[in-house]
Amino acid sequence: MVEKQQLVLTDAAFYLIIWQEREHKCQNCGAPVFEFSILLFHHILAKRPDGGYPQYRHCKWNIWILCWQCHDTHDNGNIDSPTIAKLRAEYHRLLKLHEDGKLKVESPEGFHAPGTVQGHQQADLGGPCMDNSPIW
Ligand SMILES: [Zn+2]
Repeated sequence: MVEKQQLVLTDAAFYLIIWQEREHKCQNCGAPVFEFSILLFHHILAKRPDGGYPQYRHCKWNIWILCWQCHDTHDNGNIDSPTIAKLRAEYHRLLKLHEDGKLKVESPEGFHAPGTVQGHQQADLGGPCMDNSPIW
């Protein structure tokens, strides 16, 4: 229980950092987002421990700010926006290259997730993100 509470707090702190760094608008449809909520933050690579990528839970490149409508559509309708699906496919491609030892550069030239800040991103919250992250 304590561990779960800690994770929720860490999530909130991590989301707040992103909220301060990015424009307050949906990265999928562009709609303005007026109020901070932990429910706005979407993991491109799912954070679930079972079949997901919990190691990238606190990686900024793996987070998009989504408006209520886009996030709801995505989570409840299982409808993937083409933009998000394309980005996820690109992440899968890079991760596969990394697993095969073929990804030599830490920040692939020209690879830039839309809406994120380019460069080496770190959550400054510890955790396993950057150690295992081949993308940034
Ligand atoms: Zn939206």
